[in-house]
This record gives sequence, structure tokens and C-alpha cells, in this order.
Amino acid sequence: MPARWVGRGVKGIAARMLDGTATAAAIRGELHGRIAAFRARAGRPPGLGIVLAGSDPGSEIYVRNKLKTAAEEGMHTELIRVPADGHVDDVLATVAALNGRDDIDGILVQSPLPEGMGADAETQVIDLIGPAKDVDGFTPVSVGRLVQNRPGLVPCTPAGVIELLEREGIAISGRRAVVIGRSDIVGKPMAMLLLHRHATVTICHSRTQDLPAVARTADILVAAIGRPAFVTPDFVKPGAVVIDVGINPVSDAALVRSWFPPDSPRLAAFAKRGTLTVGDVHPAVAEVAGALTPVPGGVGPLTIAMLMANTVRAAELRLAL
Ligand code: NAD
Repeated sequence: MPARWVGRGVKGIAARMLDGTATAAAIRGELHGRIAAFRARAGRPPGLGIVLAGSDPGSEIYVRNKLKTAAEEGMHTELIRVPADGHVDDVLATVAALNGRDDIDGILVQSPLPEGMGADAETQVIDLIGPAKDVDGFTPVSVGRLVQNRPGLVPCTPAGVIELLEREGIAISGRRAVVIGRSDIVGKPMAMLLLHRHATVTICHSRTQDLPAVARTADILVAAIGRPAFVTPDFVKPGAVVIDVGINPVSDAALVRSWFPPDSPRLAAFAKRGTLTVGDVHPAVAEVAGALTPVPGGVGPLTIAMLMANTVRAAELRLAL
């Protein structure tokens, strides 16, 4: 994998940028033969059904990207929309119908569901997705299999991070890993995957005491917090590998100016669009870390690539039944 070296080198260290876009392209390329083989055996392409309730702008973008990528890979895709003022039962009925469809191998219900559907709507929906079609890896069966280190469908974002580390030749076994964030979709499964690869893992969260000191113990630091530029250089042991999962749209000009040097192309991009997507990791971390994922172009493309991989895997496993 070609490595780009960046950073201003203030301390004589510049992090190697870990190219998620290139790794995602490699993962997708490896699926082509499997998709062709599946088509030949099944007489149809792998099928992905996406349920989108409401019209959250972020969700619209994520769903559009997932559908576009799946279509590019030659998969069958279906988008089923439920109105924002719909009932959770509408989503449940949609999932039940997809569960029963032979030509649908993967089911994804885009989060978040509209608030009006109730506080436990997501749980109800996840509980109904057939585990064989659970390409997000969120059902209790998938989570249980992951915790027990059994084969199964693993949440796409942390699975993508592992693919990146392994393909970049970054050792995990025996190293100290710190994951900041304990969500069901990123932090917790990330910690499990690192643990199963024999890292010594610490999970941090909003009530962790002296977070920078804990983070500084990490050889591999994963930030999945949802707070722009939260992880500053004092969180990072020199030379550590830093994985930035955060995707945060920011429109506050003063904040953006405080993060980037005046000649940064990111500032020019912000001036043009009035908004910028930044990660959870402060740009100055590039001067301390040994390797770093950029935002954009780091973990984001890997997440979609792993959704494709999970859909192909689900299709292959269903065909083998
Ligand atoms: P979440 O809100 O569910 O969880 C955030 C976690 O961060 C929580 O566990 C919380 O304890 C922790 N946290 C919050 N404030 C903290 C603080 N001050 N100190 C320490 N920990 C704190 O978010 P999530 O769904 O896990 O997503 C996290 C980020 O990753 C978001 O920016 C999200 O957009 C992004 N994300 C990116 C991808 C991708 O493909 N790159 C996929 C999923 C999520």
C-alpha cells in the first residue's frame, strides 16, 4: 500500500497517513470474483435491502452512498422508505417482509429512527432482523457471536478498522489499545475485535478520569466520540497509531480557523462550502502520531466496503444453507 507522509514536522515527526480510500478499493476489488461466482451459482446477484425512516439529511447521504456503492458492485439494491411520521410498526412490517424475501441477503435499517417512533424503536427493529441477514452486525445473535469470537457478521466500522490495521502491517498482538467511546456500533465491537487479536484493551468514555493520561498509554488509539478535534496531541504517545472514526460536520469559522494553519487547503475548502467534515482527532496530532487516518478518506470508505463484504458473505452463507 503506498504511504503518503504529511505533517509540518514541527517535532521532526510526521505521521504516516493511512489511506482508507485505497484500502477500501482493495477490499471491494477482492469481492468482484465472489460476486460473479455467487451470481453464477444462485442465478441472481447478492441483494441488499435498506430501510430509511424519515429524511434526516445525514442519513440521506449515508444511504445514497451505500446504494450507489452496492449498485457499482453489481448487487441488487432496494430502498424502502417509511415516512417520518410513520409508526414503528411500519418499520417492523418492512423488516419482516425483507426477512422473508429470498432475493434479499442483507437488511440494514438506517439509524437514527425518527424520535416519534419511541425510545425503544431501534431495539425493536434490531431484534426483528434475521441474524442471517444482519449485515450491520447489530442483532443480539451477531453481538454474542462476536463476544465469543465465533464467525459471524461484524459491525462494519470496527471491522474496517481491523482490515486497515492488518493490511497496513500494523501489529496488534501484545500491544496496548485504547478505544475512546463505548457505543454498540463502534466502541464496544472495536474493543472486542482488538481483544480477539490479543491487544491489551482499555475502553474509555465520558466518565473516564484523566482521559489524556489513559489515552497516552496506547500504542493504538481509536477515537469514536463524535466531538470535533477532541483528541489533542497530549492524548497521544509519540509514534502511536491513531484511528479517527469521528465524522463531524462543523460550520463555526472560528473553530475551524483554530484547528488548521492559515495555508491549509482545509481552510480554503471551508471558505468555499461554509462547512467542513472533521474527525475526533485534532490536526496537530499528525505531528506526534506515527500513523493516522485522515478525515475524510480514512475510516468512512472502509465502513462502506465492509458493508459490501458483509452482504456478499451473508449471500454466500445463505446459498450454502
Ligand atoms: P455515540 O454518540 O453513540 O458514542 C460516543 C461515545 O463517546 C460514547 O460512548 C461516549 O461515552 C463517548 N464520549 C462522549 N463524550 C466523551 C468525552 N467527553 N470523553 C470521553 N468519551 C466521550 O457515537 P458513535 O455512533 O459511536 O459515533 C462516534 C463518532 O464516529 C461520530 O462522530 C460518528 O459520526 C462517527 N462514526 C463514523 C463512522 C464511519 O464510518 N467513519 C461510523 C459510525 C460512526
